[in-house]
Amino acid sequence: MPFDLSARLAERRAAHLYRQRPLLGSPQSARVVVDGRPLLAFCSNDYLGLANHPEVIEAFSEGARRWGVGGGASHLVMGHSEPHHQLEEALAVFTGRPRALLMSSGYMANLGVISALVGQGDSVVEDRLNHASLLDGGLLSGARFSRYLHNDPVSLASRLEKTCGNTLIVTDGVFSMDGDLADLPAICSAARARGAWVMVDDAHGFGCLGEQGGGIVEHFGLGVADVPVLVGTLGKGFGTAGAFIAGSEELIESLIQFARPYIYTTSQPPAVACATLKSLQLLRDESWRREHLARLIGQFRAGVGELGLRLMDSSTPIQPIIIGSSERAMALSAALREQGLLVTAIRPPTVARGTARLRVTLSAGHSEDDVAQLLDALKHASISLPEQADD
Ligand SMILES: *Cc1c(COP(=O)(O)O)cnc(C)c1O
Repeated sequence: MPFDLSARLAERRAAHLYRQRPLLGSPQSARVVVDGRPLLAFCSNDYLGLANHPEVIEAFSEGARRWGVGGGASHLVMGHSEPHHQLEEALAVFTGRPRALLMSSGYMANLGVISALVGQGDSVVEDRLNHASLLDGGLLSGARFSRYLHNDPVSLASRLEKTCGNTLIVTDGVFSMDGDLADLPAICSAARARGAWVMVDDAHGFGCLGEQGGGIVEHFGLGVADVPVLVGTLGKGFGTAGAFIAGSEELIESLIQFARPYIYTTSQPPAVACATLKSLQLLRDESWRREHLARLIGQFRAGVGELGLRLMDSSTPIQPIIIGSSERAMALSAALREQGLLVTAIRPPTVARGTARLRVTLSAGHSEDDVAQLLDALKHASISLPEQADD
């Protein structure tokens, strides 16, 4: 039968893979209202607690009064306004790169950059665990596409032997589902040896890593020669919306000329750029947020270790607890919800089969009491968990 959508949906349900959207009745915060119920949440990417910050809200409101709401047109036509331009200049300074380009979303930024830089006759080499937008960007570019074993420089080197044309190595900075860091020093040296370029998407590193929140490149002290293409998203640690690419003058001009997802879309509302200018300042200057976060991460890891649950090797706010089967992960998530906590289960195909997990994310908006409450709830919930079954 053509378009048998109900069969497809039934199959997904039977496999415990059916997705549903929790309905939020409050702003982003440690304490939210979901489906009408107050919950303590550990699944936002608002790592620094800036999404609902009064000064960011004020900058946004003032921006809307001054600049209106709609972006109005694409950047190349009549949508590139002063707040967008100022934000680009501030992001270039922040990342220590000659220029930055603002995009409406991280997904689009990744599609745009990869397809502007490589095409037929070129190569793109990606970490297996890269974010979907990077993998999609690589596949859509038309370049020869290969993936290397997660964070494995030896596997990367063997893939690099089979490349042709311009070669782009693409990696997450902080891996979004595991929370570990890309081994950038090794990746950059492999790239240098082959004359390849490195592109890093540090969606989860900005704001969290580096003394000034400059992310993984600040953490490892890598400049534009090591990482010529640096992508950041603004909807996570920055707490607003959109994304940016930072790099050389030539890179940014090339994107303005050739990146179709940049050229053929309306600019983001200028007031969002006003809000991001404020959140950038808070992210960079209020280092107490990173320090508080580091303490919470330490408290959580020590507590979970005592419970005998399995954590990943992560020093970032992304602290997944590996459960195994989707069914078990869902059961644990439901048991936590019974106790007033929201922690989402992440299942295949987002993660590999047999590695369904609770993706716990911590935020500077949490208190030590919040983390203690999570640990307590995990203790109760994991006792009542059914035995491990095959996925
Ligand atoms: C969230 C995310 C994106 C997508 O960014 P949006 O602005 O939400 O579209 C891209 N890359 C990574 C690694 C991400 O985690």
